Amino acid sequence: MSEVTRVEPDLDFIKYLKSAGGDSMKKCYQCATCSVVCPLSSEGNPFPRKEMIWAQWGLKGKLAADPDVLLCHQCGDCTAYCPRGAKPGDVLGAIRAYVYTHFGFPQGLAKLCCSGKNLPILIAIPVLLIGLLWMVSGGMHLPDVETFKEVGFGQFFGHWDFHWLSKNVFFIDIIFVPAFLFAAFASLKGAKAMWDQMCASLEAKSDFRPSAKQFVVDFLLPVVVETVQHKRFNECGENQNRVKGHLPLMLSFVALFVVTNYGLIRKDIVSLFVSEEMRAILHGPIPLSDPFKLLANIGAIALIVGIGILWANRSKSEDEQGAKATFYDWFLIGLIMSVGISGLGAELIRLLGVPSFAYFVYFIHLVSVFMLFLYMPYTKFAHMIYRTVAMAFEKYRDSSFVKPAVGE
Ligand code: SF4
Ligand code: SF4
Repeated sequence: MSEVTRVEPDLDFIKYLKSAGGDSMKKCYQCATCSVVCPLSSEGNPFPRKEMIWAQWGLKGKLAADPDVLLCHQCGDCTAYCPRGAKPGDVLGAIRAYVYTHFGFPQGLAKLCCSGKNLPILIAIPVLLIGLLWMVSGGMHLPDVETFKEVGFGQFFGHWDFHWLSKNVFFIDIIFVPAFLFAAFASLKGAKAMWDQMCASLEAKSDFRPSAKQFVVDFLLPVVVETVQHKRFNECGENQNRVKGHLPLMLSFVALFVVTNYGLIRKDIVSLFVSEEMRAILHGPIPLSDPFKLLANIGAIALIVGIGILWANRSKSEDEQGAKATFYDWFLIGLIMSVGISGLGAELIRLLGVPSFAYFVYFIHLVSVFMLFLYMPYTKFAHMIYRTVAMAFEKYRDSSFVKPAVGE
C-alpha cells in the first residue's frame, strides 16, 4: 500500500500572506493559465501556478527556497488573465515580503519592518538618534542668513570644527557609516542564507561547486548587466509603465551613490591635506557649477520622477485591477519620495536663504535617508539583493555545475 503524506498547513503563515496582499489565493483552482501567460516563466521551471498551491497549503519552507518567487517582476500579466481572480501577482508579492523577513538579520528588526503598525517606531528610531546627536553636538545654534549662504548645512551639528574634520562631517559619519555597514552585513547574511537554502532544495545535487571567481563571472555579472538593461521588465505586457519609473529610479540611485562618494572624498579625505582656508571651502556646500552637483540635482529629479511614476502605477493597479494596498509596497514608495522631496527641498530652501526652515527639511532628509539605509534588507528595497541572488541562482541551476547530476 502506498504511503500517504499528510500536509500540515502553517495557518499563521497563511494568515500572514492574506494580510500582506495574498487574500485572494484560495480562489485558485490550478488551471495554470498564469504560468502560461507569465512572460518570465520558463518551460523547465514554470511559475506561479505551483507557488499558488504551496501558498494555499502554507508550505513556507518550500516557498522560501524557491528562486522563482523572486524572479517575478510583479508585472501583473498573470493577474490580468487569471480566470478566478486569484491575483497570483499579488500573492507572489506577499510571499516575497515573507521571504525578506524570513532571511532578515537580526530577526527582531526584520519583524519590526514588516508591519504598518510599527511605523511610528520605525520613524522614532532615527528621529531620536539624530535628534539626540543634534542636541549633544550643540546644534541648536542656527546660522544667520549670511553665514548660511557660506556654510550651508555645515552647521547642523554645531558650528565649530574638530582639528581635521568639521563637526558636521564627523557626526554625519558616525550616524551613516555604521548604518550602511550594518545594512550591508545584514544583506550579505540574508543573501547567503537564501542561497544555501535554495542549494539544499535542489533535487539534482552535484559535487561541483563554482569558485568565487566563477560565481562572479558566470552568474553574477551577467545578472547585473541584465538588470541594468531592464531586459526582463521589458518583457512584461501589462503595466509597461513600471519600466518608465523603475529605470530612472535605478539610474538616480547610481548617480546619487557616485555623488555621495564624491562628497565623502572631498569632505573627509581631501580636506585633511589642504590649508585651513581651503578646508573651510571643501566643508561648505558644493558649488552649483560643479559637475557633481549637477549630477546630484539631475539624480534627485530623476528619483522624484521615477518614484512618482511608480506611485501612480501602484494606485492605478489598486483602483483598476483591485490590487490590495499593502504596507510592503507603500512604505518603500513613501520613503523614497520623502528622500527625494526633502533632499531637493532642502537644497531649494537653502538657495532661497531661509536657514530655520531649511534645517528642519534637512533633518527630515537625514531621517528618511537613515531609514532607507537601515531598513533596506527587510523592506521591498531588499529585492535589489534577493532578486539578484535568485537570478544568479537561476543561471547556476541551469549550468553544468548542476546539470551533470540530473541523470545520475
Ligand atoms: S492563479 Fe488563476 S490562473 Fe493561476 S492556476 Fe490559479 S486559477 Fe489558474
Ligand atoms: S506578476 Fe508577471 S512576472 Fe510575476 S508571475 Fe505574474 S506574470 Fe509572471
